[in-house]
Amino acid sequence: MKREEFLRLPFFKERGFTLKKCRVCGSEFWTLDPEREVCGDQPCVDYEFIGRPLGGAAVSPREVRERFLSFFEERGHTRVRRYPVVARWRDDVYLVGASIYDFQPWVTEGLVKPPANPLVISQPSIRLTDLDNVGRTGRHMTGFEMMAHHAFNIGGRSVYWANETVEYAFGVLTEAFGIPPEEITFKFDWWSGGGNAGEDYEVLVRGLEVATLVFMHYKVVGDELMEMGNKIVDTGYGLERLLWLLKGSPTIYDAVFPQVLDTLRREAGLERLDPEMLEAVARKSGKLDFKKPALSARVLAEISRRFGMSREELEEMLAPYQSLYALADHSRTIIWMIGDGVVPSNVGAGYLARLLIRRALRHMARAGLEMPLTEVISLQLRIWRDDFPEYAELEGEILDIVSYEERRYRDAMKHGKKVVRKLLRELVKRGLKEVPPEKLSELYESHGVAPELVAEEAARVGVKVVVPPDFYSSLASKHEAAPPKPAPVEEEARKLAEGVPPTRKLYYEDPRKLEFKARVLRASGRMVILDRTAFYPEGGGQPYDTGILEWRGGRCRVMRVVKVGDVILHECEGQVPPEGSEVKGVVNAERRFALMKNHTATHIILGAARRVLGRHVWQAGAQKGVEQSRLDITHHKRISPEEVRAIEELANRVVMEDRPVRAFFEDRTVAESKYGFILYQGGVVPEAKLRIVEVEGWDVEACGGLHCSRTGEVGLIKVVKVERIQDGVSRLVFKVGKAALEHVWRLEDAVSGLASLLNVEEDKVVEGVKQLVDEFKAVRRSLERARRELLELKAAQLAAKAEQVADIKLISEVVEEGEERDVRDLALAVARQLRRAIVGLVSRSGVYAIKVSDELVREGLDARKLNRLVLARVEGRGGGVADLVMGRVGNPSSFGEALREAVRGIVEDEA
Ligand SMILES: [Zn+2]
Ligand SMILES: [Zn+2]
Repeated sequence: MKREEFLRLPFFKERGFTLKKCRVCGSEFWTLDPEREVCGDQPCVDYEFIGRPLGGAAVSPREVRERFLSFFEERGHTRVRRYPVVARWRDDVYLVGASIYDFQPWVTEGLVKPPANPLVISQPSIRLTDLDNVGRTGRHMTGFEMMAHHAFNIGGRSVYWANETVEYAFGVLTEAFGIPPEEITFKFDWWSGGGNAGEDYEVLVRGLEVATLVFMHYKVVGDELMEMGNKIVDTGYGLERLLWLLKGSPTIYDAVFPQVLDTLRREAGLERLDPEMLEAVARKSGKLDFKKPALSARVLAEISRRFGMSREELEEMLAPYQSLYALADHSRTIIWMIGDGVVPSNVGAGYLARLLIRRALRHMARAGLEMPLTEVISLQLRIWRDDFPEYAELEGEILDIVSYEERRYRDAMKHGKKVVRKLLRELVKRGLKEVPPEKLSELYESHGVAPELVAEEAARVGVKVVVPPDFYSSLASKHEAAPPKPAPVEEEARKLAEGVPPTRKLYYEDPRKLEFKARVLRASGRMVILDRTAFYPEGGGQPYDTGILEWRGGRCRVMRVVKVGDVILHECEGQVPPEGSEVKGVVNAERRFALMKNHTATHIILGAARRVLGRHVWQAGAQKGVEQSRLDITHHKRISPEEVRAIEELANRVVMEDRPVRAFFEDRTVAESKYGFILYQGGVVPEAKLRIVEVEGWDVEACGGLHCSRTGEVGLIKVVKVERIQDGVSRLVFKVGKAALEHVWRLEDAVSGLASLLNVEEDKVVEGVKQLVDEFKAVRRSLERARRELLELKAAQLAAKAEQVADIKLISEVVEEGEERDVRDLALAVARQLRRAIVGLVSRSGVYAIKVSDELVREGLDARKLNRLVLARVEGRGGGVADLVMGRVGNPSSFGEALREAVRGIVEDEA
């Protein structure tokens, strides 16, 4: 189909629509209203639905969702359950931003069948790109439900295309929502995103865009558009927007969160705004965009004049209400994120969750709300209980995570204030009058300090802060896409594998078969490719197998095994077998079985951790080893020793129950709907068919690794170390089987060794050590006392040797003490016993100290001056303060005479 055909769909003609050109923006649109001259989109018109409800004030989100879903269900669409807001099946983004994300790339590329076709869904979606506008424009949200009907015309199957799509949209709006047909306009436009493009219609009612109908049929390659074989109907109807339209409320937040806002207003002690003014702002709010401050300022200035106030006054009046709006929005999105398994942290989706929580807390402070954020969250959970029972079920965990974040935020603020004040002092000192903008994101990223806090502190000392209007949006977009992962295999291996048929994977057919015969397909340098192999290649956190290859007339050791696509390469040591020859492969059994046990144990421990710590726990990484393995899990708090024991106990119980472990292949869509997205613990699996590993009744994961056939084979599981490797991620290091036993033995040896040293029974070791430590402390105390007594004694001896120079007592002696600390302490002790004294001590190694009595210092005698005079006579270095200098001289025996002369010099100067 060409552009013209999309524009002139038969539906419009049949229903009597007219094609017009917008008087304001010039875009083409279809309408049933002969009088209409503008397209109905922003900014061509005002929000004409404000205060003019189309559906009665009592309509609820659930009703909108239900009416939409059942309309399409009755018309041959299958209702599909929502996907999580965390895009576990994709490695390019963290969060689901639209319903089509659910089907990218697997379904849209035609690699996997869609769960139903056509289908209808209401998909919670998160977009943080307009974070700075949320609460302020009346229409932007971080979280919204995108209702959609999708049809996938893929693989020769033709479901429906543009004409039917437009007809459905018209049908659902008029029939299910009672919108008058002449109020609906279809604006023709062009859409592109995520590497795809196509024509689209924006569906507008009374100035509000309620739906977008995209016909995806191009692939964007550079500047070129390439027609795809696949034609995908990608629609999106904003549930909240429809609700807003039906209720005619001043803002989308008033329509979606009426109860929450009532409570928040009461708590903040805010009156309701003057309805006339509220409506005046609301009707123009479609034109607001605070990422373009000049534009928004113009719109607001116009409104404020009508009410006889300045723009600043109007903005100040609206500010606390806007904060409550933002809070109502953010708190629901926070529930979606944490409820779907995001633990706040400094990376990935965790970063975005933390950003949102901190924004919510800032807004609470700005609106003067004293209640904790958890109370707002709790209220939201209650209100949405019937819409999202799955979140209500997780209430305890969600509140725990939020309250932990809240505490952390308060701590960060305390520290942050100090950092900001220090920065401001420096700026003032350097005579600067403005905080550099790049400092603001640095302060947020490394200290969690919000730019508003910087502005508050700066205002006190008269320093200016200009917060970029898109500060938060740009932080969010910097963290929205997942970083690309580097290719793990070297170029040489890639080249060798080119054009080679897939290797038959004997390790999947029977993980216990470790000897096999195969033919050499390619061999070059150290690399060998066989037609089949029992050697497991590196992958999925499981290390490769090692072993040997034997052939007539030779043998070599397999040092490493890697995978390129479906081809497996053996890196060998020694001479490699010739191409075309037959080889016998033998996998190192001990290593393989140890890895299998460790891998199965990883799945068992993950299942135990989710049961002990909560369902928010996800695998953040894992590395299996022969001696020990590690499992990194997301968890907001430090894992307590009791929790570690509980995990160990559960894990070992599962081992003793000897549950079966099954591995099998399953169609991606089938597996996802059967087990849920919890499958993707090990990350995204780039295959249309998933290999599922199931520990019966305990854990199911998409996993390419090799496992024991029953949990009993794993043997003892012992967690040997727990550490927090980053914010929100903890690492469990564990050993299994014989390695675990050996670990216990080592501890046992240590205890019995201690027992025999202490000469006590093994169960009395702790008491014994405690006693020993107490004794040791007592001995150290008396040793310290003895040292001090000895010091005083020596000091007294030295004091007795004082010479008189004029009215000054001079002590100048060589001492045994060698350490700086000892020489200094001794000099101080001598000085304490005398008045008007100069004490100069030097060790045999040349360390010296000169202490001048306080009386003399007060009279102007400076130890530093004395020091200079001494160092003029004897080679060395030293320095200090007015009453004490320390240093080192090359010739200790001449120090005494040098000091004596220096003192005499000073005394004579004064006389
Ligand atoms: Zn227009
Ligand atoms: Zn696994």
